[in-house]
This record gives sequence, C-alpha cells and structure tokens, in this order.
Amino acid sequence: MIRGLTLACPVCGTRGLFRRWVKMVERCPTCHLRFERIEGHWLGSLSINTVVSAVTLLAMVTAAMVITHADPPIPLLLGLCVAVAVILPVLLFPFTRTIWSAVDLLSRPLSPGEVDPRYDPQELAALAAERAERAQRALRDGTGSGDGVSGPEPRTRQSGEPQPPRSSRPHDR
Ligand SMILES: [Zn+2]
Repeated sequence: MIRGLTLACPVCGTRGLFRRWVKMVERCPTCHLRFERIEGHWLGSLSINTVVSAVTLLAMVTAAMVITHADPPIPLLLGLCVAVAVILPVLLFPFTRTIWSAVDLLSRPLSPGEVDPRYDPQELAALAAERAERAQRALRDGTGSGDGVSGPEPRTRQSGEPQPPRSSRPHDR
C-alpha cells in the first residue's frame, strides 16, 4: 500500500511508471507486472478518484458554510469548486492508479507467471521454505555443508547400533 501511495509498482517498488503525468507504462520495467490485470481494471482507480474529489468538494462547501454562517460568497465558492473539480482529479490520477493496483493485488494475489519469479512473493516464500527445509535436513544429518540435496549420510547413529565403548564400565567385583 505504501508503494501504491508513492507511485511505485506494488510488487517490486520500481518508480518512474508514468511517462507523462497521466500516461502509465503498460508493464513494470522491473517485475513485468501488467498493470491492467483484467479488462475494466482501471474502474477501481476511477472510483477512488471520484470519491476523493467529491469528498473534497463536499468538505470545501461545508467549511465555507460553517465559516460564513451559511452565507458564503457564491461566485467565489463556485469558482473555487470548479477549479478543484477540474484540477484535483488530474493531480490524483497517477496516485489512484498505483493505489488501485496495490488494493487489487491485496484482494487478488498474483497468479503464477504474472511477474518475474524473482519478484513473486509466493515463489520467494516457496524458495525460502525449501532452503530452510534443506538446511534443517543438513543439520539433522549432522553435516556442516547443507548445500546440495543431501542423501542419507553414511554416519548416521541410530537404529540400535551398538554404542561405541566409551570408558570401561565399572566392574563390580
Ligand atoms: Zn514491478
């Protein structure tokens, strides 16, 4: 979400996704996420933009009413509202796009192959789990080098093998 709020790719954090303020690249240059994940994807960002702009306008009118005791200078208020209604959605445009991409990813996780595997959190988690398991197996087998796929080590001490004679047992005689 923080990446989305700061115009970065929500998957990998790459910036510079906008050629001009309102022209977004189709895919992330780093992780290759296609931002328009499904047809109609950007309706979400449009909704965010509309809601934020409308709430801002409502807040402006409400504030003007409160400050002027319900007698605002209508032409001034109208002019301000029109200016905000035109400028704010354009200002918000890129932010709503990356925010929506982040929201969409939270609600609909990446499907396999949607991004470069090096940036896929699920692939990374699977890889980390595999690595941890391999390390644990190596530890269990008592080898220091937990590198490759460890087969059964020849020196396993289990299964009723006679214990090596430590010190001579106390003879009781
Ligand atoms: Zn990316």
